[in-house]
Amino acid sequence: MNPDAQGMNWVIGRARADIRALQPYSHASWEPTLTRMHANELPWRVPGDSSAAGLNRYPEPQPPVLVQGLARLYGVAPEQLLAGRGSDEAIDLLVRVFCRADRDNVIVCPPTFGMFAVAARIQGAAVVPVPLLKERGFALDVQGILDRVDDNTKLVFVCSPNNPTGNAIPGAVLIDLCQRLAPRALLVVDEAYVEFSSQPSLAAQLSQLPNLALLRTLSKAHGLAGARCGALLAAPEIIALARKVIPPYAITEMTVETVAPLLQESGVSAMRERVQRLLVQRARLAAALGQCALVTRVWTSDANFLLLDCRDPDEVLARARRAGLLIRDVRQPALPASVRVSVGTPEENDRLLESLR
Ligand code: PMP
Repeated sequence: MNPDAQGMNWVIGRARADIRALQPYSHASWEPTLTRMHANELPWRVPGDSSAAGLNRYPEPQPPVLVQGLARLYGVAPEQLLAGRGSDEAIDLLVRVFCRADRDNVIVCPPTFGMFAVAARIQGAAVVPVPLLKERGFALDVQGILDRVDDNTKLVFVCSPNNPTGNAIPGAVLIDLCQRLAPRALLVVDEAYVEFSSQPSLAAQLSQLPNLALLRTLSKAHGLAGARCGALLAAPEIIALARKVIPPYAITEMTVETVAPLLQESGVSAMRERVQRLLVQRARLAAALGQCALVTRVWTSDANFLLLDCRDPDEVLARARRAGLLIRDVRQPALPASVRVSVGTPEENDRLLESLR
């Protein structure tokens, strides 16, 4: 199950020495058969608290019911998974475990999800951009990445399917990049939108690639953005380091009790049906937007949103707003006239199309 020990050694050696040596916070022990007089909680529930465990009690850290449910869902061992508050938390944890402030750097591939760079900057790490190749459908510039990796590069963030461009990076490209990043950097693949993609997750590769980390979330296909639940998937040794850094009670009891039942087989098949419905809408919306005079290009999407190049982006944004709809202005140097639209219900999509006629 574990990647070979030598491979794992260099990966863990790239983590911050002070985090490797850190004695983590020792939380109140979890022994549900005994009465809790050890955690300075109030002994009474508040009115309206209908939770099973009682909101007056601290939740169990890394609750096994949630970790096992997520591990089953993603096809990994529980030791290969850390549950957190969305994938945002996993990004932050990786940066904090691996990057020394004012010394280390991470590589990001714009246009992409903004939190990779923000989390790195908060930690004091430098951000090295290696842009996606727009003329090749926002393909990954593998050679460009390898050229920019230096002794202080710790993480390479790749989002697949990518936000906001919508394209997926082929698995073979990512595996090859991951292997070529050894023995220096980890490849972090953000798979927030993978359930909408024709390409599978790289979760099955984790056991062979010691320097691969994956980000998954329940915020997109699972429809649970408000529950704040996501996961870091990586070798058990990396998970153990991230676990030292995550606050002990990161996942709320309300989230555990809401999410865990939805990870059962019936919840997962309902999620898959919703994804299929969404994909029908994505195809319909993409085709119809392609007929709008204001839209010059609808980029192919493997996610639950569409990237549009527009003749007049301000006009498109204004028309949507007048119809009571928010769409995202994603203009930046590589996307000078683009907006991003999340696929909605059939009625919401109709309203958008109507507003652009
Ligand atoms: N990764 C990507 C690529 C995203 O687009 C988003 C949300 N916009 C996230 C991660 C954050 O998701 P979460 O709700 O799991 O923190």
